[in-house]
Amino acid sequence: MNEVSMLINGERTTARDGATFERRNPLDDSVASLAPAASVADAQAAVKAAATAFPAWSALGPGERRSLLNRAAEALEAKRDAFAVAMATETGASHLWAGFNVKLAADGLREAAAMTTQIAGELIPSDVPGNIALGVRQAAGVVLGIAPWNAPIILGVRAIAVPLACGNTVVLKGSEICPATHGLIIEALQDAGLPRGVVNFVTNAPENAGAIVEAIIAEPAVRRVNFTGSTRVGRIIATQCAKYLKPAVLELGGKAPFLVLHDADLDAAVQAAAFGAFANSGQICMSTERIVVDTAIADDFVERLAQKAQSLPLGDPRKGPAVLGSVVDLATVTRCNSLIDDALAKGASLVCGGKSESTLMPATLLDHVTAEMHIYHEESFGPVKAIVRVNGDEEAIACANDNEYGLSAAVFSRDVARAMTIAKRIESGICHVNGPTVHDEAQMPFGGVKSSGFGHFGGKAGIAEFTDLRWVTMQTTPRLYPF
Ligand code: NAD
Repeated sequence: MNEVSMLINGERTTARDGATFERRNPLDDSVASLAPAASVADAQAAVKAAATAFPAWSALGPGERRSLLNRAAEALEAKRDAFAVAMATETGASHLWAGFNVKLAADGLREAAAMTTQIAGELIPSDVPGNIALGVRQAAGVVLGIAPWNAPIILGVRAIAVPLACGNTVVLKGSEICPATHGLIIEALQDAGLPRGVVNFVTNAPENAGAIVEAIIAEPAVRRVNFTGSTRVGRIIATQCAKYLKPAVLELGGKAPFLVLHDADLDAAVQAAAFGAFANSGQICMSTERIVVDTAIADDFVERLAQKAQSLPLGDPRKGPAVLGSVVDLATVTRCNSLIDDALAKGASLVCGGKSESTLMPATLLDHVTAEMHIYHEESFGPVKAIVRVNGDEEAIACANDNEYGLSAAVFSRDVARAMTIAKRIESGICHVNGPTVHDEAQMPFGGVKSSGFGHFGGKAGIAEFTDLRWVTMQTTPRLYPF
């Protein structure tokens, strides 16, 4: 069993009243982790520590912040095995997914390290003679980061890396589903030698999430919030941020369409669709959720994709390599089973896989899905994927946009110019031509539109989110006044 500590002002700590909560393993219900159940006072102490550490951290030269973040990347990689065990026990994730998480998260820390020298400003021509006007980017203060369980290392690191690079101090609110995995990120940052209070870590019992999050957002020292999670909770966070006037980056749910046009390279499309649909058992915000196929090639494509899907190894991640491990909980199984029942009752056909009684869910494809079925609209967040047949490009685009979400998308065609024209018309923050919907790199402007949220994490867009842009002037000659 993992025993998790919070980190407040450089001290590993329990909740001040000693309260704890458990995370259970999704496969055998054994206790995976025991973690502190923070009170509001604990959360406020974490903000206080971050606020106290802010002046010194934000005044550090970029070189020092850069080397600490680079060291954190190494410390994270050194914990690869511990991460794999923690993820398998807390979320049922495969070692493959854990390894991918460690790599991308380390990339994220190194990219953030490189950005420390890119927090630049500009010289703006002023109409006032002798006036030198600057647009200056400056650290904002304390940043609250809230990350989910599904890509726990990538998203836990994403919630704090660029904010730290910009000179902010942070409070990471860990997920109740993977407190030990998120705790290992914090240990890596400590191993790297981050000064006390620069990073703080709070864990909470599920029933206290609302109170803890509001208490942190309400603290005057907290100047930015970032949240990655469901659209349902994202709306609650957005409402709290509006109440306390705190800018937020919201990275929420998705229902990524994957368009296969009639001239697509079908082998390439099958590889990308299988990867995008079934990596981490479909529990990724960018997961391919709707495979939109031109009728002209649909039979051929579906047959090849089914073969690929059926060949993907499924198994207990603690016992050996698998592509599909356990899904995160039985609620996911119930949700996916009911999406299958609903689609089949309304005329869809089951191509492969099917309902499951355990969290080891097979790769499942439903063909002839229509707008009347729940799976057409709702995020499955599991390995159950819809195939929608369309006639021609206009129907494909209309289907892609017929959804409340807008995070990732993909278009497959041998005619790249045609695919690019279609990509421009898809309502999503991210779109890949001849690539999978699941693609993340730390330097890219990652973010969604519509109910997938707003704001961006990567690269220069991330700097803009986590700094204040200030207008600063110097009057260098005597100034004339009208009176
Ligand atoms: P979730 O929204 O259920 O939980 C996320 C966090 O919200 C947790 O830390 C939880 O403590 C907190 N929370 C719960 N109730 C709250 C409340 N009332 N007030 C304040 N905070 C509260 O999400 P999840 O199940 O952990 O993650 C899955 C979802 O995340 C999916 O919808 C997925 O698409 C989305 N996601 C999005 C991205 C992205 O980058 N856009 C990435 C990964 C996951």
